[in-house]
Amino acid sequence: MKVSFPYMGTTVIYKKLLELLGHEVIEPPVPSQRTIDLGVKNSPEFACYPLKIILGSYIEAIELGATTLVTSGGHGPCRAGFYGETHSRILKNMGYDIDLIVFDAYKRDIMGTIKNVRKIMNGNSLFYLWETLRIVYLMAKSMDKMEKKIQKLRAYEVCYGDCNRAWEKVQKVFNDIKNIEDVKKAKIKSKSILDDIKVIKIPEPEKIRVGIVGEIYVVMEKSINLKIEEILGNMGAEVERSQYISEWIDYNLLPIWISKPHELEILKKGEKYIKEIIGGHAKQTVGHIVDYAERGFDGVVHLMPFACLPELVSQSIIPAITNEYNIPVITLPIDEQTGLANVQTRIEAFLDLIKNKKRIRIA
Ligand code: SF4
Repeated sequence: MKVSFPYMGTTVIYKKLLELLGHEVIEPPVPSQRTIDLGVKNSPEFACYPLKIILGSYIEAIELGATTLVTSGGHGPCRAGFYGETHSRILKNMGYDIDLIVFDAYKRDIMGTIKNVRKIMNGNSLFYLWETLRIVYLMAKSMDKMEKKIQKLRAYEVCYGDCNRAWEKVQKVFNDIKNIEDVKKAKIKSKSILDDIKVIKIPEPEKIRVGIVGEIYVVMEKSINLKIEEILGNMGAEVERSQYISEWIDYNLLPIWISKPHELEILKKGEKYIKEIIGGHAKQTVGHIVDYAERGFDGVVHLMPFACLPELVSQSIIPAITNEYNIPVITLPIDEQTGLANVQTRIEAFLDLIKNKKRIRIA
């Protein structure tokens, strides 16, 4: 079968998993204006923005020959739990005969997970599957570590674009791995790529650190969030996202006693403001803002996709957290109308504000 997946963040990881299991992988193109147009045109108008982009991404993968799509499911009271069914029906109505394999959290549907695992195992043994998952997990952990480092270095790079070029190289290095030994070699090679980036030395108290929180898709997919990390980095701010793929795996796929997920601490920090899981990552959003404030970050950018109710709720709570923790937060709504110039201007003004605040505090 020709397999594809929705484009989100570091796609090397999903690609590697399917490749190592022996599938012919059709890589979906990087989301573009065409992806957005296809998704918007074929989705219900009231659907949330990520649903539309992912649909556009599926259509482009199908056009390239994909016959099977593999994705993770969602749960909770927002639309995430219906993505699989909604996408499946829309694609069917469009005349595409596609097998959509949706991995819901295994704790919620053990039998469904076993059935899906059998499908993607592709006749390999359980031992081989375990080894493959181990390779991909270690790869995700290492790549996230490298990406976090790049998100800090970008603020101080001497030569504009060095960090982006380094990240491209790192992804290529990890794209070539075939076994655990290769992961170790890739880590060493990537570290030396990052060590080669020349940076300006800035005194610690003058550094600006900004967290990015919000719904997972718009936080992780840079082509949809107008490369917000790069905008912030190029304006001199260190960045950290609330979502990384390895942390998602820790919380959603691994037993707690193995992974000790960071997300549990974050949920505890959000408990005071949102008691229940209200869907998406709203509770994590408020928990992460508290976490960033406690860790001394200078500000937070909150990304909210169009028609996302959970993030609308977290947005309404943000002023209370801002007052309590004295941390500036800017909310950026993201949809197909969002313009780059608008985002750049708002981020520039936001950074001016937090830099002035910091200067007054230091003086
Ligand atoms: S969290 Fe928001 S964007 Fe994501 S599925 Fe739920 S409603 Fe849609």
